[in-house]
Amino acid sequence: PYDVLIVGGGPAGAAAAVYAARKGIRTGIAAERFGGQTNDTLGIENYISVLETDGPKFSAALEAHAKAYDVDIMNLQRADAIVPAAQAGGLVEVKMANGGVLKAKTVILSTGARWRNVNVPGEAEYKNKGVAYCPHCDGPLFKGKRTAVIGGGNSGVEAAIDLAGVVAHVTVVEFAEQLKADAVLVKKLQSLPNVTIHTNAQTTEITGVDGKVNGLKYKDRATGVEHLVPLEGVFVQIGLVPNTEFLRGTVELSKFGEIIVDAKGATNIPGVFAAGDCTTVPYKQIVIAAGDGAKAALSAFDHLIRHG
Ligand code: FAD
Repeated sequence: PYDVLIVGGGPAGAAAAVYAARKGIRTGIAAERFGGQTNDTLGIENYISVLETDGPKFSAALEAHAKAYDVDIMNLQRADAIVPAAQAGGLVEVKMANGGVLKAKTVILSTGARWRNVNVPGEAEYKNKGVAYCPHCDGPLFKGKRTAVIGGGNSGVEAAIDLAGVVAHVTVVEFAEQLKADAVLVKKLQSLPNVTIHTNAQTTEITGVDGKVNGLKYKDRATGVEHLVPLEGVFVQIGLVPNTEFLRGTVELSKFGEIIVDAKGATNIPGVFAAGDCTTVPYKQIVIAAGDGAKAALSAFDHLIRHG
């Protein structure tokens, strides 16, 4: 069995693998796709000490760092279920989609999350070419340009307020009749001079030309009339979904499906820790996921020296 088995190979999982392996304990990492979300990222400019890199380079560097140590890397392997140890100090089992079962004294869950898509024409085509999901990451790329935010919940309204300080203009498009964000955020948004809000508005298409976004079409749901907003960028903010469906009923999750962790990254199951975007830790960023991965590995090590 493994001393530490990590499920998920994004920044959180890779950091956990490096930290665990450096303790000289038997470490394995199973990932559906090593690198995680960073594979889909164009530019990364906020990983401290790395002025600028791109996603595929960053993802390859994560894997190279884990490979520099004695780590069992199982790429393209999806976990389907986790079975807690039968008794204290026993082995946790992770059941894989390929039918295999991996056993470990401790497990670190770092399965990340995915942004919910609006699924309109143009979204997939112009992803990273004007269609973005993370205002902290990509907001500065639209400095002085016109953007839209799809979604008027807390994340959409926060994104719009954030962007309004950087970009020329922000159009907020919300499907429901009212913005669903907290009143204090809505009030702040409404006070901004370079923001236009459309509620009861259904996004129907993201348009583009020469491989770049040039507009957003929405339908006024009251009148049925379609409008076109010329712009350069669209931020989709209709939810971040944690990849935790396979844990339901076993590991305690928040109402958003995030794994509930304490300050040490421990879950409700003894010996099972979690890190990164799949957890309740706020602000989903690479540097935060990596830090939490390191923390979870140290917590797993601490668990092993006490119980293993
Ligand atoms: P992830 O990166 O999501 O990795 C999860 C891992 O778990 C993957 O290996 C996945 O294949 C695996 N996995 C999932 N389910 C299973 C399963 N059942 N079994 C086995 N493996 C599984 N952040 C920044 O800081 N700066 C940026 O510039 C930036 N830009 C971004 C741009 C885009 C387009 C996106 C989508 C995100 C961006 N982010 C950025 C956010 C950042 O990528 C995430 O916060 C970070 O990758 C989270 O790391 P993680 O390890 O928690 O999860």
